[in-house]
Amino acid sequence: MRRKLAAGNWKMNGTGAALNELEALRTACPAPSVDILICPPATLLDRATRVVAGSGIAIGGQDCHAATSGAHTGDLSADMLLDAGASTVILGHSERREDHAEQNEDIRAKARAAMDAGLKAIICVGESLEQREAANTLDIIGGQMSGSIPDQSTGENLIVAYEPIWAIGTGKVPTLDEIGEVHDFIRARLERRFGEGVGRSVRLLYGGSVKPGNAADIFAVSNVDGALVGGASLKAADFAGIIDALQEA
Ligand code: PEP
Repeated sequence: MRRKLAAGNWKMNGTGAALNELEALRTACPAPSVDILICPPATLLDRATRVVAGSGIAIGGQDCHAATSGAHTGDLSADMLLDAGASTVILGHSERREDHAEQNEDIRAKARAAMDAGLKAIICVGESLEQREAANTLDIIGGQMSGSIPDQSTGENLIVAYEPIWAIGTGKVPTLDEIGEVHDFIRARLERRFGEGVGRSVRLLYGGSVKPGNAADIFAVSNVDGALVGGASLKAADFAGIIDALQEA
């Protein structure tokens, strides 16, 4: 039985004042029956951890370096995230693949470092609009999975997020059949590579313009175990609406 997960990615949004939203989310979800994760900017990790202490909300990072320490100005190691209170780290988000030219092998190295440190890794995969229109979606997802998911992955330390690039922050969402096709494909690939036990235990999130109004339909799709949410995770009321839909799914 996979535990459902609602994960919020705040990206480069929020100073200390944004912690009021986290406080409000805590109040809105006093005893959640699903896992809730908020990934704030690194500057808020420590403070966010204090805000959610003793609640059902966990805190995560948005990236980490593949090395454990060293001369990497501006970067953070997995151990540092853990030390600041993170349980999880998002890796291979399409914005990092684009803005920082991250390749699958970079993401795999970061995922290894995260898992070695004891963090869960949410590894993001997803196609561009051009790739979807050229009917290459499953090839792209398969290649990203082979390249960026490390061999040491288990149902405990790996979460895969399917995030079509063209759906992120655009208000456009694939059809439910399209989401189901990709999630079934990801599940089958995981089972083939890691065996049925592990393959069936990895949680699969959908991400891309999830809102309170479309969440219930998306959560009813096969092999969707939750969502990775950008914009709608910034406001407690919106994210709580998505969490409610997940709890009822
Ligand atoms: C994301 O960036 O991971 C994301 C899914 O963003 P949004 O929900 O805003 O589309």
